[in-house]
Amino acid sequence: MNIDNHIIFNVISIFILRNINFISISYKDWFYILLGSLLTCMLPDIDHPCSFIGRRFRIISKFIYNIFGHRKITHSLLMILIINFIFKKLILNLNLIPYYIYHGMVIGYINHIIADMFTVSGVPLLWPINIKFKIPLLYKIFYKFNIIIIYILILLILIIKFIFLRKNYN
Ligand SMILES: [Zn+2]
Repeated sequence: MNIDNHIIFNVISIFILRNINFISISYKDWFYILLGSLLTCMLPDIDHPCSFIGRRFRIISKFIYNIFGHRKITHSLLMILIINFIFKKLILNLNLIPYYIYHGMVIGYINHIIADMFTVSGVPLLWPINIKFKIPLLYKIFYKFNIIIIYILILLILIIKFIFLRKNYN
């Protein structure tokens, strides 16, 4: 999946999260979450030297690619746990960075992996067990028409909004 799709997917999913409204946090904190997520929504592809992020960190990228290969460890639940631990330590120790940036960084990383599940090759969530996870049916459609996912997500937002507004009126 290309960088545009990952960024769009990430922004829309943050928008959905905000609209679900399951936690009440301020606009400023949502901005930090969005900012943090934009920093990491391409990070899992550091495992490919030709990717947008891989070209910028070529040495690290080649190292990961040669040891693990593309769409392996960096696209797994194990790596989500590892980056969660690292980002948390990093942000808490560097007291200057707002805490919600950390949440955003983890969400951005997860968003990338979810977005890749819409592609035909899927992701090995349980790496080192090599079972590929894909979102059924949708990945086939998405493979042909990338843009369709954006419409599906917008539709989801509208449905969620509709349910939420109805709940408020009742
Ligand atoms: Zn990826």
